[in-house]
Amino acid sequence: MIYRDIYLFVDGERIGPRDRETRPVLNPATGEEIGLVPLATGADLDKAVASAQVGFETWRVVPAIERAAIIREASDILRDRIDAVARLMTLEEGKPIGDAKLEVAAACDALLWSAEECKRIYGRVIPARSRTTRNIVLREPIGPVAVFTPWNFPASMPARKIAPALAAGCACIIKAAEETPASCLAIIEALLDAGLPPRAINAVFGEPSAVSQHLIRAPEIRKISFTGSVPVGKEIAQLAALGVKPATLELGGHAPVLVLSDADAETVASQAVAAKFRNAGQICTSPTRFYVHDSIYESFLGKFAARARELRVGTGLDSDSEMGPVANPRRLQAMKDLVADAVQAGARLVTGGNQIGNVGFFYAPTILADVPPSAAVSTVEPFGPIAIVNRFSSETEAIKLANQLPFGLAAYVFTSPGKLGASLVDRVECGLLGINTFAVSYAETPFGGVKESGYGSEGGLEGVEAYLTTKFVALA
Ligand code: NAD
Repeated sequence: MIYRDIYLFVDGERIGPRDRETRPVLNPATGEEIGLVPLATGADLDKAVASAQVGFETWRVVPAIERAAIIREASDILRDRIDAVARLMTLEEGKPIGDAKLEVAAACDALLWSAEECKRIYGRVIPARSRTTRNIVLREPIGPVAVFTPWNFPASMPARKIAPALAAGCACIIKAAEETPASCLAIIEALLDAGLPPRAINAVFGEPSAVSQHLIRAPEIRKISFTGSVPVGKEIAQLAALGVKPATLELGGHAPVLVLSDADAETVASQAVAAKFRNAGQICTSPTRFYVHDSIYESFLGKFAARARELRVGTGLDSDSEMGPVANPRRLQAMKDLVADAVQAGARLVTGGNQIGNVGFFYAPTILADVPPSAAVSTVEPFGPIAIVNRFSSETEAIKLANQLPFGLAAYVFTSPGKLGASLVDRVECGLLGINTFAVSYAETPFGGVKESGYGSEGGLEGVEAYLTTKFVALA
């Protein structure tokens, strides 16, 4: 299986695995090693920081209209390469090839949106207290930034961080997941081919905690953005706080879905299967805790399970596959442990609950019903193809169940169109609320959570805002 060479991109140079420690890249559909990732040394990281500082000084003075043209060109170049990049993504992450293409297209959208926003980074002039003075507010790029992305969206996550950082005029060091390095490198190549000054972007891989400590502690790095788990996010937040550096944190969720008594069970069930098992459930906004009104509980559960059983699970390169493997052996083991624990605690296994075959990391779409609060899966984000379906009898109870965990990323409500009370919208604690839809993420809309799901937003105006500072100039 032809994959591609992986390298660090530091100070304008590509550094391959030859003189570095390495770790393998595995194909989750087969378990086979398909590539080698070089791990950055401390000296590589120092060089990347120095390079980002130089890159920042070069890039920040490029006029916005020229920055926009380069980032837009990168979007066009990447769009021309969608098929090839999607194939690499499926090889390293496992998702079906159609989903991989959509993801690369989303990365192109993020680049394009940010390119357009470059031109609209406005300051303002505030009426002064005297006729001879001016009060001017400038928006400036915050400086060199370090961003960290996970393996579940190997192209759209890097794009969602790199694009707004570059739009703002920042230079960027990215550490993408070592498990899925090729998709991120494809974005970097598109940017370089579009004419980005090479030092404005540096890409490293390595031992994650050593790399993040090294980069976040470097005085030159002025802002951090991280997407990943809550425990790692807390470590990153503490490190950033030591240097009084702002951070954007997109951490885990455990998304509740309230299916109210007037919802159409059939429609919700078919949308729920598509949303829950997309990327084998490895999405921070994945709908997981279904709370269904008593009156339609059995009907919804039956339809949801029937559709889940129909899903075609298989290798992502086969265009017939609707769900691929989970991305790594850790997720496979986590699914086995969570299901065994839930059944032991008294949950009903409605469908799935088993590994599929013994090649690669395939796990069946799984639905658990009547799951007691004591089961780990009630509180631990499964980050895999497991849904929980429990019942409620009043709206107050449903909101309480939705809000009971320390997370607050996505939440969903299904009801008759036009029936939803404003109080329910106000009372669900989350950063993303889908009403009669599971689609809550676009290049032009803000994406972020509340509570332990993190702080700050990516996407939309907020995405670029995160890489800017405000300077007030009093001109006498
Ligand atoms: P993990 O916490 O070990 O790693 C998550 C990601 O963070 C990986 O990409 C990893 O390379 C990176 N990482 C780990 N330690 C780091 C550090 N100290 N500094 C910088 N980056 C670091 O978990 P995992 O086994 O890879 O994934 C499992 C859990 O992670 C899931 O249960 C899920 O909650 C969470 N996760 C969340 C997202 C998301 O989109 N929010 C994405 C991937 C994983």
